[in-house]
Amino acid sequence: MTLSHLNPFLAHIHRELGIPSDYEQRTGLQRFDEVSLSNLIVAQLDHAGRPLVLTKSAGEAWVAMRSAADKDGVSLQPFSGFRSYVYQQGLFQAKIAKGSSIDQILKSLAAPGYSEHHTGEAVDITTADCPAGEAVFESTGAHAWLSTNAERYGFKESFPRGNPHNLVYEPWHWKYHST
Ligand SMILES: [Zn+2]
Repeated sequence: MTLSHLNPFLAHIHRELGIPSDYEQRTGLQRFDEVSLSNLIVAQLDHAGRPLVLTKSAGEAWVAMRSAADKDGVSLQPFSGFRSYVYQQGLFQAKIAKGSSIDQILKSLAAPGYSEHHTGEAVDITTADCPAGEAVFESTGAHAWLSTNAERYGFKESFPRGNPHNLVYEPWHWKYHST
């Protein structure tokens, strides 16, 4: 098994988790470097008091979008922003510890190195009275508001239904695209 397309650190993480060596070809997902820490800011504290960390431009766009939603009576609650390779690895390890297979996990979680969260430009969003990271977010007023307005702030849904990457539909996952 060769993982020569990965840097040694990422190759080590993939080997440790048992990510298939043809993962990149199989999913067509893009590999991302971790954004440099000096580009990151704390955009806000989330409902659990944890910092939402994003790049400066994504963070400013997020704050503007959330304020606009607030004015429309819509509550946008972030629950995940920037994630390092090691943090993503930890998410896998937690699911493996609960008995999930690597194939199951890969349906809802990009392998370390392939998550848009490494760029500091992706935000996972929920709203009041909605469980975080569940498909039911699709039928909330918050999702309807995002579908109409997010693009004005540079945010787009990354993984619509039937996406070519073999990932489940993630109505909660939005990424900032600088123009
Ligand atoms: Zn996400």
